[in-house]
Formats: sequence, C-alpha cells, structure tokens
Amino acid sequence: MRPHILQNGDGDCVNLQLLLPLGFLPQPFSCPSPATLMTQPTTVSDAIPIDVTSNIEIAVFSADNEAAIHLLEIIQCKSSPPTLKSDENSIGYQLSIPLSCDSPDARRFRWRIGAGASPALVEKGLCCCEPDILLCPPGRTPSSAAVRRFIKDIHATIHFHPESGVLLLKTHSSRPLIYEQGDVDNDDLILDMLGKVNTCVLRRQRNFLRFGQYRFALEFLVKDDDLSRVKAQLDENLGCRFNGSRPSQLLNFIPMQHPETSWNVWLHQKIPNTSITSGVNIHTGQPVAVKKLQITARSRQHTLHRLQLACQYKSRPDKGVLGIIDAWCEHKTSPPCLFSEAEASHRCRRLFYSMPLAEHHFLNMPWKKIDTNTRLLYFHQTLVGLAELHRQDVTHGNILPESLLLLPGTKPTPMTDRSLPRKAVISLSMQRLDKPNPSVCVAPEVWRNQKTVDGPKVDVWALAASWLFAFVRPPSGIKITKASYQTLQKTLDTQIEKGFMKESFAALLRQMLAWEPHDRPSTTELLADTTWESVLVHAQSIEDNKKRKRMEKMQRTPSQGRRVRLLSPDVND
Ligand SMILES: [Zn+2]
Repeated sequence: MRPHILQNGDGDCVNLQLLLPLGFLPQPFSCPSPATLMTQPTTVSDAIPIDVTSNIEIAVFSADNEAAIHLLEIIQCKSSPPTLKSDENSIGYQLSIPLSCDSPDARRFRWRIGAGASPALVEKGLCCCEPDILLCPPGRTPSSAAVRRFIKDIHATIHFHPESGVLLLKTHSSRPLIYEQGDVDNDDLILDMLGKVNTCVLRRQRNFLRFGQYRFALEFLVKDDDLSRVKAQLDENLGCRFNGSRPSQLLNFIPMQHPETSWNVWLHQKIPNTSITSGVNIHTGQPVAVKKLQITARSRQHTLHRLQLACQYKSRPDKGVLGIIDAWCEHKTSPPCLFSEAEASHRCRRLFYSMPLAEHHFLNMPWKKIDTNTRLLYFHQTLVGLAELHRQDVTHGNILPESLLLLPGTKPTPMTDRSLPRKAVISLSMQRLDKPNPSVCVAPEVWRNQKTVDGPKVDVWALAASWLFAFVRPPSGIKITKASYQTLQKTLDTQIEKGFMKESFAALLRQMLAWEPHDRPSTTELLADTTWESVLVHAQSIEDNKKRKRMEKMQRTPSQGRRVRLLSPDVND
C-alpha cells in the first residue's frame, strides 16, 4: 500500500533528465577514482574527522532506484563526500560509529540528510553546516533545482534513540518522507513535520525510504563478529536513561532478520520469568514493556475496569501508579473493542498493553548500592501510589516486590548526564486472583478467612512486606502464622541493631505489619507520618542541586543546547 502523492508535473521533467544512461552524465571523465575519494579530507566545516581504524561501519544509506543512483553518482563526481562509496553494483553513504571514544559526542551518533545549503546561500557565504548524507549536487544546475523540489536543505536526521538505542529517523520538512511498510500493520508510513508522525524507528535490516521520486535503502551491516562490540559501545556511549545499566540486556539495537511487531510496538525480547516482552514504540523509539492478557467471561469486567484505570496514569508518573501507554486487542484495534463495543466484547479474548519499560523491581533491585535516604524515597513513592488507588476505592489485592517498579527518570536529558533520578511506581495487577500464593506478602488474616478481609489493610501489609526485600530476603512460599510472625519481628530487631534500618522507619514498618488488621494504619495516615519528612527534604535538595547545575551548564555553553539551524526557508512548505 503505497500512497501516490508525489506525482507532479515537475517530477516528470526531473525523471527525464535524471534517468539518462550513466554515460550521459555531465563530465563523467572528471571524476576522481573511488580510491582518491576515500582518502580526500572532508571540506565540510563542522564535519568530524574520520579515522578508519577507530570506526565501525554499522549501516549503509544507498541508492535504490535509477533516479537515486544517478543523483548519488553526480554528487560523487562533483562534491566527493568522503563517506560516499561505490562499486559496480551500488552507491551509498557509509554510516559508522566510533568504536571507543572518551567524550561521547552526539554528532558521532547522528547523521543529517538533505540537499545542503541552497546556491543562493552558498553565494552569499552563509552556509554553515552540510548534511552528512548529501542528496544534491552543488551549484545552480537543472538537477540541483529538481532535487530541491523534493528534498530540503536539512530534510531529516537519523540518530540513536538516547534511551532505547534503536535508530530513529526524524523529518524536519513538511514535504513527505515515506518509510515503506514502516507503520502499524506494515502500512507505509508518511513522515511529515507538520503531521501526526514525524519520527519512526528503522526496524528492519533493510529499510526503504522515499524522498519524492528518489528511493533509498538503509541497510544494517553489522557482522556477527562485531555485534557484541557495537552493543557494548552503544551501552557505553548512548547515555541511556537506564542509570548505568546495559539496555542491550533488554533491547536489540540492531534489527534482526524478521522483526516482529504487535500494534505499534517492535517486539524485542521476552523478559525471563515474566509474561513481559520488551520492545520499542515504532514511532517514538521509546522503550516499552508489552503484556498479554487472556480474557475470560468471569474476569472481563474486572480486567476492563483495571485497564481503564491504569490508562488514566499514562502521563502522570507523580501519582505513583504505573500507567498504561496503549492497549489493543487481537482484532488490531486500539483501544481494544472490549472497551467500547458491548456486543463485540465477548469475542475479544486476547488483549495486549504497553507500559514504560523498567529494568528493576523491588525483587531484583541491587539494593546494596542504594543509600538509606534513596530507599526511603522509593518506599514513599510506592506508598503514594497505593494511597492513590485507595483514594479511588481500588484495592490492589496482590502487591509483591515484583509489582513495585523502578522507572528511569521522566525528564529528557542530555546524552552525558548519567546521574538520573529514578521513580518508583506500583503496578496494578490486571487479573483477579482466586487464591493467593503463599508468601510473606500475604497478610495472616487472608489464610483465616479470605472472604471477609479488609482489602486496603491487606494491601498495607503487602506493601510493608514488599519493602522488606530491600533489606532481607525472606524465604519464599511461606504462610504467615503465629510462629513465622515471631521470626519476622526478630528479623526487624536485628536490622535495627545492625543499623541497617532507621528506628523511626522500623516503627512504621511494625505498624504496617501489625497482626490484627485494625491495628494497621491507613495509607492516608501512613503518608502523614513524620518519617518521610527528612526523606522528602533530602530529595528536594538533590533536585534543586541538579537544577542549579543544569542552569550553570547552560550559562557556560549557550550554543550547545540549540537545535540545528535550518539553512534557508523552505519555499514550498
Ligand atoms: Zn477485540
């Protein structure tokens, strides 16, 4: 399904001129040989010196139809860009990344695509930055004029997404750029700066892009031998927001042979011991987690309510509840038909939803590296989440350390900033639990009579028990009885004696883990406890400190934060 939107009268003239056989190209004999091309220094003012030994080629942006082939050949003859290489079968720009670099330079991980400064600007001496992937011959020529009808000075950029590390294409023009089969359901995706979508993830090994009549292929070239080195390099230098962990453990930077998608998510890896698959949003490159749900007649209403509730927290991470980004169903509809059509809802059996991707939860968190104040801050954030649910008259019903997730910081950050705050949230369980599995997180009264329990008080117990995992590792599969309750109390005593736990916090924990449910405070009462005061003051001071540093940095380097300045007004836009 390719939209036919680029056929115009001017395009036909261009075709005639550019589709001349190769022998008729202007000045074919003045071309330097490819060998000379490769060693010529770049004449571009802000280009990065290319050191062959320290770079690794990851992709090639090559011509894929006759119009594009002729275009690149003219450019090779007239401008000789150093990364434009050709042999008897193909011609294209090589995209490489440095194999090691001491100071991660954003420019080394992004490439600008475009026609470059217009002849008028060049004549006035006003051109400042040339595209890395130049798609227009220099000077005032018929072919240059023809190209500029479709391709702007800086038309698009390709860069690594700073969080997921996937390659993202972004348009800077309102002239359409088409990523063939790049949208949901493998439809063609039209990128348009002024339209709904202006970025997309290049998710195939070979990606076809059309700028007007010119068709190019961006092909990933990383060999198996190089893959681990490239992954390590991207882990190291992309400044991803996974706080120093390695996103390659969760995501695939380089596309595989047959990329699998589900709605708007390119699926990457099944996360072991969970029902979660990691992936990235095909438009934004944002890392997400996808979960599949089986809907039964009994669970339908419960699940529907929970999903709709979680959708409300999509852009409100400060509420402490994990929000759902998108939900869709097996009928390729989003929101799922279960949400809207009463008569169709019974046939909607398989549902999917996406959430922000978290590498850590309270069970697998490396707690030893986390200081006391930060731990307490995370506990507080999850308490805020539970209080929010209780305020909405919703009982969680199944809080475990695995339901308390640590999300990467929510603010976009420059590539070099590694000290990023994380945010703890509580994730709702979508399916109703008939019978809980024995665990320290199940309040003792549940085993006595599940039917008459006070849901919010059971939640308070479960939250406190889940926090315990930051200090100790309780045995799995135990039921809390009078005897095991004694052991639990003794464990708390030991933690205080050893100085691992603040006494005021331990007192709070004991209240939450009271044997009798009516002795446990409500979430509102818990939030009012003075234990949190010092924690919140400390968190605020860190936040203020960061803000101050950011401001200082911006004042020191006023030019760095600016966006790429476009070279000339886009007359056709
Ligand atoms: Zn459906």
